Amino acid sequence: MHIDALTLPEGATLDGDLCIVGAGAAGIAMALEFIGRPERVLLLEGGGFDLEPQMQALYRGEIVGRPYYPLEAARLHYFGGTTGHWGGFCAPLDNIDFEQRPWVPHSGWPITRAQLDPFYARAQRTLQLGPYEYDAAYWQQRDARLQRLPLDPTVVREKMWQFSPPSRFGTLYREPIVSAPNIHLYTHANVCEIDVNDSVSAVESLSIRQNDGRTQRVRATRFVLACSTLQNVRLLLASNRHATAGVGNAHDQVGRYFMEHLEMAAGNAIILRPQSLQLYALDWGVTKARAELALTDRVQRELGLLNATIAIEPAPKSGEAKNTFELEPPESLESFRRDTPNGLTSDMLAEAAKTPPHDSASVVRQPFFALVTRQEQAPNPNSRITLSTERDALGVPRVRFDWQLSSLDKRTMRSSFRALGEEFGRRGVGRVQLRDWLLSGDTIWPDSLSGGWHHMGATRMHADPTQGVVDASCQVHGIGNLFVTGGGVFPTAGSANPTLTIVALALRLADHLKHTRV
Ligand SMILES: Cc1cc2nc3c(=O)[nH]c(=O)nc-3n(C[C@H](O)[C@H](O)[C@H](O)COP(=O)(O)OP(=O)(O)OC[C@H]3O[C@@H](n4cnc5c(N)ncnc54)[C@H](O)[C@@H]3O)c2cc1C
Repeated sequence: MHIDALTLPEGATLDGDLCIVGAGAAGIAMALEFIGRPERVLLLEGGGFDLEPQMQALYRGEIVGRPYYPLEAARLHYFGGTTGHWGGFCAPLDNIDFEQRPWVPHSGWPITRAQLDPFYARAQRTLQLGPYEYDAAYWQQRDARLQRLPLDPTVVREKMWQFSPPSRFGTLYREPIVSAPNIHLYTHANVCEIDVNDSVSAVESLSIRQNDGRTQRVRATRFVLACSTLQNVRLLLASNRHATAGVGNAHDQVGRYFMEHLEMAAGNAIILRPQSLQLYALDWGVTKARAELALTDRVQRELGLLNATIAIEPAPKSGEAKNTFELEPPESLESFRRDTPNGLTSDMLAEAAKTPPHDSASVVRQPFFALVTRQEQAPNPNSRITLSTERDALGVPRVRFDWQLSSLDKRTMRSSFRALGEEFGRRGVGRVQLRDWLLSGDTIWPDSLSGGWHHMGATRMHADPTQGVVDASCQVHGIGNLFVTGGGVFPTAGSANPTLTIVALALRLADHLKHTRV
């Protein structure tokens, strides 16, 4: 059932068994799991059913670290959340992402990939994806045209991706949520404060506030914050009446270790016989899945690198570059030869020149490609979200966003491209050219550096309350009835876009809440 919170009188109290704050990817995935069950679920959504500028403006924030997208554009504040404009690229995290890697400080999840596998399989359905199959061999069996590049599989592996339509949760799941008698969806219900007991061991209620100053109280047995990473942090830190440093922040962990994916063109490639690139082509209609290239776990361990994948993208003609990607093809084969450190033989150039020029009908039939990386950043306690001194229209302090990178991030990108280039050369696949900035010092990044619009960390999962905000069940350490879900709980980011993992974790939390009592 749906109630617009704008119709609630001042001082009203809402009561439920489970309260989920935020109806985006995570919140809706959880609420769907409770349809038809005995629990009375309150689903509180700050926005309405469509974008409203004054609601969106609540997301504005102060950017003090690396340049970043305007925060009011980086997340959507209405029913369905940021699935309203996400791209639908999906892949699970790899086994190695969950491991404690000695060369990656603060790495390691308190759960394994195997524990998450059943929830990944369910999340595939929620996101309208295909079978839970991310092995290149599975897709090759279905289509003989999908051939691997002849690279050494002990050095370079294929990381497979699938593509959601993309599912827009706000339209796809509105009807089942609104028609479920036990799901009470409140729109325009912006939660502004978490009220905890004197000993800061339990949440007693939440406060929601309207633009005209009216407030209402929400009581429930258990509470889940699913407002997306930055807003979850804001809510925890701003709730500082009993917990002076903020709720869940007794050990100064809330807001630390914010992570993004580094998504950018960092190199070019000439690939000989590019007709064999169908497996790597971004062509939803044909493949429904595609591969990107990644260094194997063995090579990551040997070189001490983070996880990254490299997509082979058609280099667009001049003028077609996306503003965040700086994709510029080399002007000619000659210039490519001049700029490429290890050069090309005349035989290779002749071979490449035989391939037809770029044509829009077949993106794979051209010799020039941009290599676009998707790389995790190392967990970094100084990459941090705190509160600004400025407040939003509801009186809540805005976010102060300080995104920081480390030398391991730069070294990983450079070494991954070098290792790929060496393998291309060794196997006669082609040549890789690194961008100039990639060869420069470890702290130098181009102005065009952008993230993937993925917000992870800052309420990270760790068994030790001094090193994380939530435990392996996503319960806030020390507060028995408060849980956080979303990308914020990731201890490390992996190279995969986060939403499949976000939905898998939300389904896992739903199961946990169904099978446990406070
Ligand atoms: C341009 C773009 C492209 C993307 N492409 C991809 C992609 O290809 N693949 C991928 O995996 N991910 C992608 N993402 C990221 C993806 O959108 C997010 O990972 C996902 O939406 C996060 O889910 P969430 O539920 O945590 O947050 P959201 O979907 O943002 O939902 C949070 C919800 O909480 C509500 N809310 C916030 N504050 C409050 C409050 N105080 N009170 C009540 N309600 C509140 C919001 O209105 C919203 O409905 C993309 C993001 C962007 C911006």
